[in-house]
Amino acid sequence: MQLELKDIKGGELEQEYSCSLDEFPDLAVIAKEGGPKFGESLSFQLRFQRTGQFVEVDASLEAVVELQCGRCLQGFKRPLAESFSLTFVPQPEDDESGEEDVELETNELGLIPYRDEILKLQEPLQEQLLMAVPISPICKASCRGLCPSCGVNLNIEKCDCVRKPFNNKFNILADIDFKKT
Ligand SMILES: [Zn+2]
Ligand SMILES: [Zn+2]
Repeated sequence: MQLELKDIKGGELEQEYSCSLDEFPDLAVIAKEGGPKFGESLSFQLRFQRTGQFVEVDASLEAVVELQCGRCLQGFKRPLAESFSLTFVPQPEDDESGEEDVELETNELGLIPYRDEILKLQEPLQEQLLMAVPISPICKASCRGLCPSCGVNLNIEKCDCVRKPFNNKFNILADIDFKKT
């Protein structure tokens, strides 16, 4: 998962990557630790634009991720589609002593250093996949969650627990679509 600078002929290149999960070993580890679980196929559209030694990438990704609903605790799948951009800059090669500092600075600016005329895509693409995952996922906007008293999944079952006014407030919240925030 890398691109040589010389392959960006005429300063521009469009590429489509269809990747399997195996190409991002860290994602398997994250899934095992209870984090988001990505589906097998991940696809990226990348448009590279080279200006001198700088390479700007306009990109989009498509993936499916398996998440756990924050209200009813059920697993559900959600398709992800995000646009993002990356900027690759050459890392000074002779600067051995200050190497770490350079890396830190460029990362803070959202710049990705590259060496030896090779753009390594795996790490930045993986980062974008993880950033595309919603932070507090809800299976559906109308999810009724679990009963706070007896714990039944109110999407599937009803219970006889008495609802306090406090809970009614949450029912209003249940109609708000949180995934956009
Ligand atoms: Zn739910
Ligand atoms: Zn109940």
